[in-house]
Amino acid sequence: MTIDSKTLAELKEALLTEKAELESNLNRIAKPTDGEYTTTFDEIGNDREDNTTEVEEYTDNLPVEQTLVKKLHEVTSALAKMENGTYGICDNCKQEIAIERLQANPSAQTCIKC
Ligand SMILES: [Zn+2]
Repeated sequence: MTIDSKTLAELKEALLTEKAELESNLNRIAKPTDGEYTTTFDEIGNDREDNTTEVEEYTDNLPVEQTLVKKLHEVTSALAKMENGTYGICDNCKQEIAIERLQANPSAQTCIKC
C-alpha cells in the first residue's frame, strides 16, 4: 500500500467521524428504539386514499434513509478494509485508488476510472 501511516490515520479519523454522523442521522430518522418506526405496510388500511397517503409518506423518507444506510455501509466497509490491509484498492479493477480521491472521499470504493 502506498498510503503513509499519517495519511491513513487522518482518513480513518474522517471515516470514524462520518460513521458517527451517519449513525446519529439514521437514529433521528429511523428512531429504532421508540417503536414508532416501521418499514412495513402493516398499518395501511383498505381505504384507497389512506393507502396513497401512507405510501407517499413511506417513499418520502425512504430514499434519505437508503442513502444514509448505503453510505454507512461504505464507511464501515472502508474501516474494515483498513483493518485487513486492503484499504484504497478499487473494488472493480483492484488497482490502487488515488490518494487525492480518498482524501476527498475516504469511503470511496472504486477508482476514478471505474
Ligand atoms: Zn477501478
